[in-house]
Order: sequence, then structure tokens, then C-alpha cells
Amino acid sequence: MGAYPGANPRRSRVSNLVAELDFVDGDLMDQGSLVSALDAVQPDEVYNLGAISFVSMSWQQAELVTEVNGTGVLRMLEAIRRVSGLSGSRSALPGEQIRFYQASSSEMFGKAAETPQRETTLFHPRSPYGAAKAQGHYITRNYRESFGMYAVSGMLFNHESPRRGQEFVTRKISLAAARVKLGLQDKLALGHLDAVRDWGYAGDYVRAMHLMLQQDTPDDYVIGTGQMHSVRDAVRLAFDYVGLDRRDHVVIDPELVRPAEVEALCADSTKARDRLGWKPEVDFPTLVRMMVDSDLEKVSREDRYRELMLTTNW
Ligand code: GDP
Repeated sequence: MGAYPGANPRRSRVSNLVAELDFVDGDLMDQGSLVSALDAVQPDEVYNLGAISFVSMSWQQAELVTEVNGTGVLRMLEAIRRVSGLSGSRSALPGEQIRFYQASSSEMFGKAAETPQRETTLFHPRSPYGAAKAQGHYITRNYRESFGMYAVSGMLFNHESPRRGQEFVTRKISLAAARVKLGLQDKLALGHLDAVRDWGYAGDYVRAMHLMLQQDTPDDYVIGTGQMHSVRDAVRLAFDYVGLDRRDHVVIDPELVRPAEVEALCADSTKARDRLGWKPEVDFPTLVRMMVDSDLEKVSREDRYRELMLTTNW
């Protein structure tokens, strides 16, 4: 949340979906604001999903991304420690703990040391984003070990939904497929088509996050589907679904190729399956169809509205 009440434009998006939510402001760049927010709420669980989440941007604003995505985690843990009155000599007792979930990322594996990646795979981040997430991951583990906090990291692989931001490749593709289908766009510019990801459905992954905070002992888990697909596969699935030939519409823009690329990621979620009883329900082709359907609906609604604005004599 932004430091100023009401300053965050995303607030209304969330409150439209879940009307009964109360908002309390805090900022990952401001230690005191986090302590005040926790003091006011006295939560049982904290999910730190706050981050600058676009990998590409992290080269342009590396320091800011490090501050928010890396040191921001330390500030949140420190706020929990202070509010709970924990020190090196006093660990949290079960029942009086604020449980903490840190959104770690498959980007920490980067230039992957082994495939598939599991909890013990060495990190080799390929972007300031991945490096900052690794900092957040390690400090979460350190606070667990230092202060007995129930603090866990979910090493989540890419997770998408119709609400994914347009700066991410899956949503960029689903939106373009819908717009091309409806005659509103002709070309889709992309970067590296051979990049491979393990893409899952965000709803499945939120279930995993919640499960991670309901265990007897805190631990870190890799969460993904174990299925690999390239950006090219995503384009093919989306364009085939709307009955178009992708070769007529996709162009490569070298500007969209990153300074260092994460070529391929794939999760081994055996530990989450065994210990949490978690498994994903939605596969990638289903996810792509879900996103394209949603964008067809959104785009045609916006188009009808635009036409109405142009043709109505107010
Ligand atoms: P990331 O894995 O968190 O970086 O998620 P993204 O959805 O941003 O990118 C996934 C992969 O798609 C990366 O390897 C990108 O290099 C690749 N990619 C290819 N073209 C594009 C593009 O136009 N936009 C984005 N965001 N990614 C692209």
C-alpha cells in the first residue's frame, strides 16, 4: 500500500472484489509504518506479496527493486519481531506467533544449476529482481533460525490468471490474441520466443501459500506444475484457440530481449505434494484458454463502450 491513504490506485480494484476488507497503510520502504500497521491489526498471519514484480524493469531501477524486494522483507520481519517482542534470547512460543509468508521466486534459480529445480537447488539469479528475491529468501530463513519465528518462503514459479498485468508475457499474448481476433490490432511484438517457463494458475498457488502457514513446523517449498512450455507454445495455444495463424501476426522486437535471460525453469514440487498435500488443478492449455476467453470478453466490452461514446450525441 502507498504511504498516503487512498493513494494506491489498486485499492479500488481489490475492494471491488472483496468489499469487507479493511485497509491499513504501510510501505516496505518505511520500517516505522510497518510496525504501526502490525500494531494496529495484530494479525495471525502476514503474507508479504509486496514487490516490484516486473523482471525487465529491475535493470533500469536496480537499487529501488533491491530496496523493496530484498530489504523490504527484512523490514517486514523486523516489524514482526518488534511487535512480538522477540530477541536472540527470547523465541516466539507457538500460539503467540505471527506467521509470516514470503513470496520467493523461481527467478532465484535463474541460470538453473539443475532441472527440475527443488528446494536444495543452488541459486543463480540473472536479474536484480532475482538477486533481491534471494536476499528476501535468505533473511526469512535467518529470522526463522535466529528468533524461532514461523517464517516460510514459497518458491513460486510463474503463476498467471486473467488478472495478470499486461507487462507479463502470458497476458500480453492473451490480450493480443483477443484484440487481433476482434480486428483491433494486427501485430504482436515479442522478445525471446524460446524462453521456457513452468506456468501455473495463480488460484492454485494461493492455496499453496495458505497451506504453508497451516503446518506444525515452518519450512520452504517449491511450488510449480512440473510442466515446461516455451513462449512460442503460449503464442501457438492462444492464436490456435481463436482460429488465427500466429505466423501472420507475431514479430520479434530486439528491444524486448533482456540483458541476461533465464532460459528455462521447471519445478519439482514433490515436497509440497508430499507434505502439504498440494497439487495444481489447472494445466497450461486450460489456463491460456481461460485468459483468452476473459480478454475476448473484456476487449469486446471496452470496444462496445468506445463505440457508444463515439456515436452518442451527449
Ligand atoms: P518472468 O519469468 O517473471 O520474467 O515473466 P515474464 O512473463 O515477464 O517473462 C517470461 C519470459 O518471456 C521471459 O523469458 C521473457 O524474456 C520472455 N518474453 C518474450 N517476449 C516477451 C515480452 O514481450 N514481454 C515479456 N514480459 N516477456 C517476454
